[in-house]
Amino acid sequence: MQIRLRDNAGHGVVNLKRRRILLVEDEEDIAELVAMHLRDLCDEVVVARDGHHGMRLATTADWALIILDLRLPGPDGLSICRAVRRERSFQPILMLTSKSSELDRVLGLETGADDYLTKPFSVLELGARVRAIFRRIESLRQTDGGSETIRVGGVHIDPARREVTLDGESIELTAREFDLLEHFARHPGRVFRRADLLDSVWGYGHEGYEHTVNSHINRLRAKIEADPSQPEMIVTVWGVGYKFCELEQPRLV
Ligand code: CA
Repeated sequence: MQIRLRDNAGHGVVNLKRRRILLVEDEEDIAELVAMHLRDLCDEVVVARDGHHGMRLATTADWALIILDLRLPGPDGLSICRAVRRERSFQPILMLTSKSSELDRVLGLETGADDYLTKPFSVLELGARVRAIFRRIESLRQTDGGSETIRVGGVHIDPARREVTLDGESIELTAREFDLLEHFARHPGRVFRRADLLDSVWGYGHEGYEHTVNSHINRLRAKIEADPSQPEMIVTVWGVGYKFCELEQPRLV
């Protein structure tokens, strides 16, 4: 059975017939270790050892997941991530960084990676992240083809097509931004702690990644709020977390 999911632009991009992972990592020891553990989670792991090879493979084939090291000979992980996103906004991408200072840099940029891991990481942690990404794709596959849409104010979310419009204008969201917005819109008025959002949207329990939530919410606000510095839709509840505006209840049509 061949299954295809659509990206935000409506292209069929994710081929789940065979689950192939692309790993772009120049450090041989890490590449071998990671590839060995990933083989349990997919049908094939393809390793690219420099940015040029990684860029070519990442942009010309379908992958269940692309894992990008940040620092590479040739184009770096951010360049590859941006190039992939221009073509396929739905493509799951996991970014590897060497230091938390680099992680801050990655998070601060509009790269649209779905998840991040800072070296050194345990292979158990990596496995948990990859399984969470695959679970998310699987749940999307099961809802693909549904006809439900969610409207909150001027925001119109089509979960099946993974499309969002704001006052009739299409908005480009990364996969994670979309999941976050959909989660909020399905629970208007409910206050979520950052840890709740990590569990529900990122799909695995962990601590210390609250800044990931903040970063994604800031990027989402920049795309949907009239004035991101005075958000009216995704509101900060000081000392607790965030909630979605409760002025208008979502309408299922
Ligand atoms: Ca490297």
